[in-house]
Amino acid sequence: MTEPTAQVSFYQSVINYFDKAAPHTGLHKGLLGQIKTCNSVYRMHFPVKIGSEYQVIEAYRVQHSHHRLPTKGGIRYSIHVSQEEVMALATLMTFKCAIVNVPFGGAKGGVKINPWEYTPGQLEKITRRYTTELIKRNFIGPSIDVPAPDYGTGSREMAWIYDTYRTFKENDIDAAGCVTGKPVTQHGIWGRDEATGRGVYYGIREACNHKEDMTSRGMSLGTSGKTMIIQGLGNVGSFTGRIAQSEGDMKIIGVSEMEGGLYNPKGIDIFKLLDYRRETGSILGFPGAKSFEKKDRTKVLEQECDILVPAALENQITTENAPNIKAKIIAEAANGPITSKGEEILLEKGVLIIPDLFLNAGGVTVSYFEWLKNLSHMRFGRMEKRFNQNTYDSLINLIEDTTKSTIGERERRVIAKGADEIDLVRSGLEETMITSYNEIRETMKRKKKITDLRTAAFVGAIQKIGSDYLNMGVFP
Ligand code: GLU
Repeated sequence: MTEPTAQVSFYQSVINYFDKAAPHTGLHKGLLGQIKTCNSVYRMHFPVKIGSEYQVIEAYRVQHSHHRLPTKGGIRYSIHVSQEEVMALATLMTFKCAIVNVPFGGAKGGVKINPWEYTPGQLEKITRRYTTELIKRNFIGPSIDVPAPDYGTGSREMAWIYDTYRTFKENDIDAAGCVTGKPVTQHGIWGRDEATGRGVYYGIREACNHKEDMTSRGMSLGTSGKTMIIQGLGNVGSFTGRIAQSEGDMKIIGVSEMEGGLYNPKGIDIFKLLDYRRETGSILGFPGAKSFEKKDRTKVLEQECDILVPAALENQITTENAPNIKAKIIAEAANGPITSKGEEILLEKGVLIIPDLFLNAGGVTVSYFEWLKNLSHMRFGRMEKRFNQNTYDSLINLIEDTTKSTIGERERRVIAKGADEIDLVRSGLEETMITSYNEIRETMKRKKKITDLRTAAFVGAIQKIGSDYLNMGVFP
C-alpha cells in the first residue's frame, strides 16, 4: 500500500462526491447542508502506561448523522488517523447505511497508533481506556453509538470493548449490543468476519450479471474466468479473493501488499498464497509469479485485468496513477480508495466503478444482524430450523410414496436442511447486495444526467435521509 497522498484530502473527496450528487436530489439547500455536516466530533487524549513510560494517545469518535439511532461504524487503529480522516469515514457510513437500508446513522472511531508496534496486552489497555472515554461522554451504547472493527482492529478488540462496557453498565440487559464484530462465543454472529469480503463478491457478481454493462466493456456475462487484481490481503481483501476464486470461478492474477507485489497472468491460487504468506511472512517469491519490490508495489494495480479490487486504505488511485489503470471494473472494497479527481479520469476512460459506499456495506449489514441478535437475545434459526427440516422431510417422504422411488441419503440431507445462523446471514447479505445494486443502477438509468454508480448511490442515500428529516418535521 502506498501512503495516502496529499493530492485531494479524503474528506474533500467525500464532500466533492456529495456535492456532485446533491443537485439531482431535489432537496433544498438547508436540508442538504444538515445531511452533509458531521453532527458530533469528539477528540480525546488519554495517557496509557507502555512499559515504563506514559504515552499520550490521540483518538476520535465522530457521529456524522443522528437522523437514525444508534449511530454505527468501525474503529480504526492507524498512525494515519486524523480528525479529517475519521470525519470522512463517518460521513461515508451514513450513506452506506442508507443505501443498504440499515437503520443507523453513520459514525467512525480512530486511535492514532500503529497497532503492530504494541503487544496484545498494551493494545488491550489502550482499547479499554478508549472505551472508558466513550462511556464517560455517552458516546457508546446499544441505542447510542455502536462501534465495530475497521482497519487495524478485529473481534479481539471488540471483545475488550464489550467487556469494558459491561463492567460499567452491569444492569443494561442489552449491553452486548454496544459493539458488533464480537467473537461468536461472546455474543457475535456467524459470518461477520467474512461479511465485507463476501458482500464485495456479491456486489461484483451482480455487476457482472448485467449484459449491457459487460458487452459495452468487451467482457462476457458472469464472473467465471474473469481476472482480478487485489490490493491488500487484510480481512476484506483475503475473503474477497477466496470467495471470488472458489465461488465465482474468477482468476486472481495480481496482489499488492505492504512488502511488495505479485503478478501472474496464468493465475495465483489465493488459498496457497495466503498459506505461503503465513509461513514466510511475505508474499514475495511465491512460485510462478513475477515479484515487485516494495517501492514498486503499486505498479501491480496498473497491470492488465478485468477487475481491480483496492482493499487497503483511502487515496490509492489519484490523478497520478489513474491514467495508467487498465482494469475495466474497479471494485472499491476499501473506503475511499479513489480520489474525486482520480475518478474523473477513470470515468472518462469508461471504467465501471462499483463504489465503496455500496460495495463494502456487507460489514455493516451483518453488524446490523448481530445487533438485532443481541437485542433479541436469541440466535437466528433457533425457532424455525427443526420445523423447516421436519416439513421438508415429510415432503420428501410424500414424493417417495407417490412416485414409488427413493431419494438418496445425501440428497435428502441437502434438501431437508433447516437453515443455520450462517445460512441465514449469508442469504440476508446476498439479498441486500443484489437489491441495493439494482436500486443504484436503476437510479442511474432513470436520471439521464447521472452517468456513474457513485453519484447514483449518493443520490438514493441522500433522498432517503432527506425523507427521514422531512418526516421528523425538522425541515417542514
Ligand atoms: N468498519 C466497517 C465499515 O467501514 C464496518 C462498520 C460496522 O460494521 O459498523 O463499513
